[in-house]
Amino acid sequence: MKIPFMRLDRQFSSLRKQLEPRLFAVLESGRVLQSPDVERLETRLAELFRQKHAVVVNSGTDALIFSLVSLGLPAETKVAVTSMSFIASASAIVHSGCRPVFIDVDPDTMLMDTERLLALMRARKVDAIVGVHLYGQLIDLDEVSREAQKLGIPIIEDAAQALGATRAGKPPGAHAEATCLSFDPTKVLGAYGSGGAIVTDRDDLATHVRRLRYHGHVGKRVYELCGYNSQLDSVQAAVLDVKLDHVDAWQRRRADIAATYSERLAACRGVRCLKTLPENQHNHHKFVLHAERRAELIEHLSSAGVQTSVHYSTPLHRQPCFAPYADELSLPRVEQAAQTILSLPIYAELQDSEVSHITSVIADFYG
Ligand SMILES: *Cc1c(COP(=O)(O)O)cnc(C)c1O
Repeated sequence: MKIPFMRLDRQFSSLRKQLEPRLFAVLESGRVLQSPDVERLETRLAELFRQKHAVVVNSGTDALIFSLVSLGLPAETKVAVTSMSFIASASAIVHSGCRPVFIDVDPDTMLMDTERLLALMRARKVDAIVGVHLYGQLIDLDEVSREAQKLGIPIIEDAAQALGATRAGKPPGAHAEATCLSFDPTKVLGAYGSGGAIVTDRDDLATHVRRLRYHGHVGKRVYELCGYNSQLDSVQAAVLDVKLDHVDAWQRRRADIAATYSERLAACRGVRCLKTLPENQHNHHKFVLHAERRAELIEHLSSAGVQTSVHYSTPLHRQPCFAPYADELSLPRVEQAAQTILSLPIYAELQDSEVSHITSVIADFYG
């Protein structure tokens, strides 16, 4: 049996009939940028996230950079971010002229330790926050956002992994000035290329992000600020529009798979699945557990045809690019946890027989 970590080929087979006419319609129209498909997607995203505006851009990374830049923070502003995330959660802070302040995690969820964050906020050691909803569950920002409001600290939510997830019934974005999405092919709503979006209730931020997206253009060949060229093309917008109709069903299937993994691995000494916080509906973008003797387990799974991954093997404060911001910084829990986390394959097209194979290979390894 061969079980790759991702199976976009299977997803394409199931979508082919719906995708073909939409793709050809874009190509035939000749409007491959700024077509009505782009506007339609923005309307749907704004509705889905219950925000006034959605602005699509070329990547989740650009969404984060543009959001942070649009806040107009003074240079060198200290921005709190978890040390366990994709690189862009923190590199965007640097690109906006600010300084990342890396925060340790709770190993049970791998989400940012909000107690630690609150302490730093009260000590005035952070002046803005990027809250990352890692692996597909929302970080609890209730108390953080109350405190942030008192102190005037803006929050950006990084929901690149959290489309479809809710907390107390609400989608990501309830606490943020702006919320960032990614349509990278590996995400739960993936383009056939790169893409991202910003959703926000703030008119001024939406306007500013739209200007940054295309050279500061305000019409009639007038460029009000030096911006970028970060568009989502019409082909990708049409693809995402088709896929949006399926994200609920895919999420239900991933929830089934996650429940099976948790149930079958509960008795397996050697692994410990991550927890979902009360009030959270997880989207199961990733299924992550802590594994003893991880390197050996990866090898064992690999020889049984199962491809796994690690998200992420190096905490951000240990990445060379952040050395200037993490001098002698020690975050013991994330450093420890990074050695044991393991991501198992999880996608709607994964078959029951494949899930069984994976769990029995793991059970077999630990005896
Ligand atoms: C994927 C991802 C990003 C960046 O999105 P891209 O579309 O790849 O630029 C940012 N933050 C997190 C948490 C991500 O998973």
